Amino acid sequence: MQSQMGEVSHSADGHIMEIFHAIQGEGIYVGVQQIFLRLYRCNLRCAWCDTPESFHLTGKGEREDPPGSRIFHTFENPISIERTIEFLTPFFSLPHHSISLTGGEPLVQSPFLQKLLPILKEKKEVIFLETGGTLPDPLKPLLPFLDIISMDIKLPSSAEEKPLWDKHEEFLKLAAERNAYVKIVLTKDTAEEEILQALSLVKKVSRTIPVILQPVTPIYTLLPPTETQLLTWHYKALKLLQDVRVIPQTHKLIGQH
Ligand code: SF4
Repeated sequence: MQSQMGEVSHSADGHIMEIFHAIQGEGIYVGVQQIFLRLYRCNLRCAWCDTPESFHLTGKGEREDPPGSRIFHTFENPISIERTIEFLTPFFSLPHHSISLTGGEPLVQSPFLQKLLPILKEKKEVIFLETGGTLPDPLKPLLPFLDIISMDIKLPSSAEEKPLWDKHEEFLKLAAERNAYVKIVLTKDTAEEEILQALSLVKKVSRTIPVILQPVTPIYTLLPPTETQLLTWHYKALKLLQDVRVIPQTHKLIGQH
């Protein structure tokens, strides 16, 4: 699904919201330090979204300078590849596991990333993509440059999105060529049959793809599943797939945005 704001850009210049250094707070790589490149725009509107400010281009971005200081300076968008590399370079001297492309939905700016990622790979950087997992065509040209793909499966009852099963399946088949895992956000109102449908979709591609069940961090009126719901869903998931883990968002526990 692509709203007008989320249509895939054809521009080779980027719209970057933030560049900063932080600790990964979700999924399998929780706890590692990363350089975050947060891009504007998203093709989805998830009910629990905590970065709605990424939806609309403002013409301004922010970069942390010095890296790791939490002191931010604004810059103008759109931004060229050269300037992006100039802003990223000071971060390379800090300890980091990888560069996280996040958003918003980074794949909305696939043409920009097609120019940027080969340069980052020449610098031996590990590239980690965080994605909603619904834009397979923009993913294809980036696959050779991606090391890790963290892909969401959005459940219709909790994401308040229309069903995206076909797009997710097409996407996961491509992502599975790399080191990929799936993240599913759960609320207390999540429909169990949708969780099982998502797990079956993963199983169809490969039983060994890791899946993270992520209880929603309370936001707006959304509440996480109960302990009983989580235990039950986790048990059922482990009957279908080899590696399913329950991991909540941890960056919010340590006060990191
Ligand atoms: S995909 Fe991510 S950025 Fe986009 S609406 Fe959903 S949670 Fe927000």
